[in-house]
Amino acid sequence: MGKYDQEQKEVLNCAKWLSEHGYFGGFRGSGGNISLKVADENIIAITPSGRPYWDMSFADISVVDFELKPVDAKYAPSKEARMHAAIYQHRSDVKAVVHTHQTYASIFSIINQSIPALFDEIANEIGAVIEIVPYAISGSEELAQNVADRLGNQCLCYILQNHGALSLGAGIDQAWKNTELLEKAAQVYYHALMTGREISQLPRETIDYFNKKRESS
Ligand SMILES: [Zn+2]
Repeated sequence: MGKYDQEQKEVLNCAKWLSEHGYFGGFRGSGGNISLKVADENIIAITPSGRPYWDMSFADISVVDFELKPVDAKYAPSKEARMHAAIYQHRSDVKAVVHTHQTYASIFSIINQSIPALFDEIANEIGAVIEIVPYAISGSEELAQNVADRLGNQCLCYILQNHGALSLGAGIDQAWKNTELLEKAAQVYYHALMTGREISQLPRETIDYFNKKRESS
């Protein structure tokens, strides 16, 4: 038994499910990355760089510190590891990060349009809005900084301009659930926009109510 087996297993389990369900742009694709923070340590278990998930074993998940130095790593960590580390350093409520190239959220990444909370479940689980993080090249320090600059809104999902999606959580289950919820929100909003009809918004009081509820939880 390795010290980080549990975190590595949780990360791999989530990565395999999301891969099988097309969240990484194809069953054999590895277009995305997932991490989980180790409790009480500045260490993360994160998917390795450029390797397919379908035949990966949990020991292949890289364990690195916030400076990306290997702690228990057969392979180099995801090239987006800097972005993951920046999120943990800026948001103490976040313990898991899922980055995907999921289809409907990616549509909003290229029309550069945020997704408002249009259902109670989005306002409750994710926040008032799913904002766009300005583009920077994948894996760059600039992208990690652009993400960090948006984290102050306390929401749990973001869209990376011309790139993909980012979902956060207090654990892997919440980040995973938010990944699915984001895709549902993006899918429904896209189809609603296509009708050309007016989009019905949630009342401001509802957004305020859920903001308060999330702040106090
Ligand atoms: Zn990506």
